[in-house]
Amino acid sequence: MKLPTKVKVLGTDYTIVRRRNLKAEDGSVAFGLCDTHTCTIYLDAAMPPDRLRGVLTHELAHAVWYECGLNNLMKVAIPDDSQRDFVEEEVLDRLIPPLLAILDGKKGP
Ligand SMILES: [Zn+2]
Repeated sequence: MKLPTKVKVLGTDYTIVRRRNLKAEDGSVAFGLCDTHTCTIYLDAAMPPDRLRGVLTHELAHAVWYECGLNNLMKVAIPDDSQRDFVEEEVLDRLIPPLLAILDGKKGP
C-alpha cells in the first residue's frame, strides 16, 4: 500500500508520518496516533503491512471525527474526558472493520 504523506480531511491538511516506537498518551504501545492539534497522523514504521490499511483508516476516522465537530458534540453528551475518549475508540473500533470488510467484498469480521 502506497501511503500518501498529506491528505485533506474536510478541508484541513493532515500530514502522515511514519515513526518507530509510537506511544499513546498513557504510555502504551500504539500502531497509530492522530494528533488533531498539529494535524498529524503517526503510523508505526514497523507495523506489519497487513495492518496498515486498518490503522490508517482508524486514524483518519479520528481526524474526520474532530474536523466534522463530533468531538464538540461528544463534549456535550459526555463531559468526562476519559469516558468520551473510550466511546470514540469503541465507535471507531466497531465501525471501521465491517466497513473495510464490505469494501473488500468480505462478509465481515
Ligand atoms: Zn483510536
